[in-house]
Order: sequence, then C-alpha cells, then structure tokens
Amino acid sequence: MDLFKKLITVLSSDQVTVNPTILEHHSKDESHFSAHLPDVVVFPQSAADVQKIVTFASEHQVPVVPFGAGSGLEGHAIPVQGGISIDFERMNQIIELRPEDLIVKVQPGITRMQLNQELKKHGLFFPVDPGADASIGGMASTNASGTQAVRYGVMRDQILDLEVVLADGRVIHTGSLAKKSSSGYHLNGLFVGSEGTLGVFTEITLKLHGIPESIVAARACFPSVKDCVETAVSILTAGIPIARMELVDARSIMQVNQYSGTDFYEVPSLFLEFHGNEEGNTADALFVEAICSEHNCTEFIFEKDSLKRAQLWKARHDLSYSFRHADPKKEIIGTDVCVPISKLADIVEYARERIHFYGLDGAVLGHIGDGNFHTLVVYDPENAEDVQKITDLNGEIVDFAFTLGGSCTGEHGVGMGKMKYQRQEHGEALDVMISMKQLFDPKNILNPGKLIPMKQESALTRE
Ligand SMILES: Cc1cc2nc3c(=O)[nH]c(=O)nc-3n(C[C@H](O)[C@H](O)[C@H](O)COP(=O)(O)OP(=O)(O)OC[C@H]3O[C@@H](n4cnc5c(N)ncnc54)[C@H](O)[C@@H]3O)c2cc1C
Repeated sequence: MDLFKKLITVLSSDQVTVNPTILEHHSKDESHFSAHLPDVVVFPQSAADVQKIVTFASEHQVPVVPFGAGSGLEGHAIPVQGGISIDFERMNQIIELRPEDLIVKVQPGITRMQLNQELKKHGLFFPVDPGADASIGGMASTNASGTQAVRYGVMRDQILDLEVVLADGRVIHTGSLAKKSSSGYHLNGLFVGSEGTLGVFTEITLKLHGIPESIVAARACFPSVKDCVETAVSILTAGIPIARMELVDARSIMQVNQYSGTDFYEVPSLFLEFHGNEEGNTADALFVEAICSEHNCTEFIFEKDSLKRAQLWKARHDLSYSFRHADPKKEIIGTDVCVPISKLADIVEYARERIHFYGLDGAVLGHIGDGNFHTLVVYDPENAEDVQKITDLNGEIVDFAFTLGGSCTGEHGVGMGKMKYQRQEHGEALDVMISMKQLFDPKNILNPGKLIPMKQESALTRE
C-alpha cells in the first residue's frame, strides 16, 4: 500500500512526507539502538488531525509511533515495524494559561524550555527537567523526571488531565482541572508512562509552581562517593525540603570541566539547591553544611550568584552530552535503576566495582535524593568484547536493584531496552498489563515492539 498517497487524501499534502532526510530523522532517538525508517512522517496540526491519522492506521492495520523531540534513551520513538511516525512539532502551543489556578493546558509538542520561557513572565515555572529539551508529550509518555523531582515530583505528579486519541479513534479525557479527585479509576496514572502504546496525547493539563523568592545553590565535596550517598540520606531523613540534590563523581566532574569550561574540584560532589525565602534558605543551607561536615565534607561552596548557579546546573544537564561528544568513535550507555534510598550506597558501590571489574571508563551520577542514579559508560560499538561487557554490566546492575526492592528504570522508561526485565520486575502483574494493552489496542498498532512484550508482535499484518 502506498501510505503517502492514501494519507494525503486524509490530511493536506504539506502534512505528509517521505523525504529521505525527514524519514531518517524519525528513524532514531538518542539511544544506542539501531535506526529503523518509518514509511511516512506526518505533521498533525490539531487533535482532529491526530484522530484522522489513528483512525486511518487502525483501518489499515499500520503501526503509528508518536515522535516528540526524539531525546528518548531506550529507543521509544524508533518505528521498529515501520508505519507512520507522528511528529508533534506543529502542535507546540500553550492552549490556556490560568496563573491564578497554577494550571496550564498545552499541546504535546511544546518543549519544557519553550514552556518555561513563557511561564517566567507570570512568575511561574514547570519543574520537571530532563537533561534534554524534551517535549511535554514525550515527557508525559515516559513519566520523565530530572533534578527537581526530589522536591516537586515526577511527570505523573504534575498531570491533571490528558486528552488522548485511542487506537479506535475515540477521544477521551483522563482527568479534570481539579487539583485532586477521588472519582473513577486513575487513568492519568495509567496513560502517563505508557510510551505511546495505549493512546496518543493531543492536550496535556499541567500543575505549575511559583518561582521561589530565593534560590541558593551549593557544591559539597567529599573524599568518596560513599560519603556523598550517606550525606544525601542524612539530609533527606532530617526532613530538609531540598529542591535539588545531585551526585556527581570525580570522573563526571573531570568531563564536565573539559566540556563546559568549569573549574569544579574533581572529587565526588553533591550539587545542591534550596528553594524558599532568603531566611529559610540560609537556615537550611547551614543545616546541610553541618550534616555534610559530619560525613567528611572537605569543601562546601555556596553559589549565590544567579549566573554561577545557572552555570552549575547547565554543566550538570550537559553531563551526558559531555561524554557523548568526547570521542565520535565511542558511544555511551547509561543505566537508570532506582532503589530505596537506604540501599543507595550499596548499589552505587556495586556499580563502581563492576565498572572497574570490566576495565571500562565510566562515571556514576544521578538524582540521588530519589534513589535514582545513572552510570555513564563509554564503549566502542564496533568492539564485540566492549558491547558484551556493557550488556553484562547493565544486566548486573538491574539484577542487583531488584534484589534491593528497586526498579529497572527510575525515569528513562522501558522502550526497547528494558522490555526484557518486565517479567522479572512485575511477575504476574505483567499479564494484567498485557491484558490492558489488548483492551486499548487490540490490533497492536500503537508503538508496537515497545514497553510490553506482546506474543502476537510478529503477527501484525500489513496490507
Ligand atoms: C542528554 C540527555 C539527558 C536526559 N536526562 C533525562 C533525565 O534527567 N530524566 C529523564 O526522565 N529523562 C532524561 N532523558 C531522556 C529523555 O529526554 C526523556 O525520556 C524525554 O521524556 C523524552 O521526550 P521526547 O520529547 O524527546 O520524546 P521522544 O523521545 O520523541 O519519545 C519518547 C516516547 O514518547 C512517546 N510520545 C511522544 N509524544 C507523544 C504523544 N503526544 N502522545 C503519546 N506518546 C508520545 C513516543 O512515542 C515515545 O514512546 C535524557 C535524554 C538525553 C539525551
């Protein structure tokens, strides 16, 4: 079937393309998984357009894969069975901003930075900040988080309502404008994190937050990663409302100094931030400084200047890119497990020991306040031994996280990479998830080959 010819009868011709460069752009994301071309890319401008695309796909049993900014790290947006890639770049508007209700309704293609640029004018901000400038649709779809989740929560905590086009073309709302509700099943919770496998989002209503009157950042340096982790646990258990608490090991800081031109001490560190009023922040920061000294802190440096603070967090957000761009022949792979915070020191030590065991070059960093950390490991994709080592390392860290009661992914999602761990993590609950997928998407057209290992995967028919 010539999808292009058929789709231009459903949409206008400038909304459908088979341009090779555009197909190539939609064949991959930021993960290490192999690219796969879609047959066609479409650019909807409204929910009605999305409804037409999904209805068409359902009638013709063609896979549809939503595409946000393509920054996913587990191959989520790769159209592994071809079909239609839906790009949301033309649906990137704020639909309604209600500052007095701390609510904004947006189209899914808006990116987090675009949104925050607009919100700033109203003294508001949206706190979820993955390292990339991801789209709100993609972030909702992967239940993304970032450096501020320790204080404000993850995407699932911010979403009041989603407008979703279902596989059969029906359009539903999963919530309301109310800040809380005890009505019905929690469909927001189900659709957030569904990675495009249950429905396509066309409108997202988010909770907002006021920009704090005072923001103070600090860097605390330690002799070991273990000291950092133990400090983080003490800060949390002391009940201090920390807004950001990031672990960055010596290897990471070395890389960031090279990439970002910073001159941070190249030792294991915590990057910290406090949100509130000046008096409260000063008291909290001093309390934290005292806790740090009890854990062998060697330096505690305040970053009160807003430019220095911005530089600190930009350097942190650019960390992944700093490794990626260091050597074009090498790739990096990141692990993303999450464990109860009391077990964090154990697994961080374990991860460092395994990286050393395999003789790999790798860093340990992460959103330590949530029990979520990453390793970033450099490897040569052409070297079979290297590939085997990073595969084994990833599996070992996931297995260890399970033994500690943790999850195989804290924020990057399942996509293709973590599908093989779903049975181990969820047991019989995975069968319930498979039943849900069959209920919402009986023809398995919505982002097939991701998140849920479906038995009939290969049976998807194409005309
Ligand atoms: C340098 C770097 C740092 C990162 N740091 C973090 C981090 O700290 N925390 C974190 O959580 N992630 C992080 N990520 C991963 C990534 O940014 C997130 O997974 C993000 O949520 C993906 O958003 P996206 O717009 O790029 O989506 P895409 O990659 O385009 O798509 C992701 C998934 O969302 C689906 N999707 C997109 N739009 C819709 C829609 N409208 N309806 C339904 N489904 C849709 C896609 O089908 C796909 O399954 C990082 C990535 C990079 C490259």
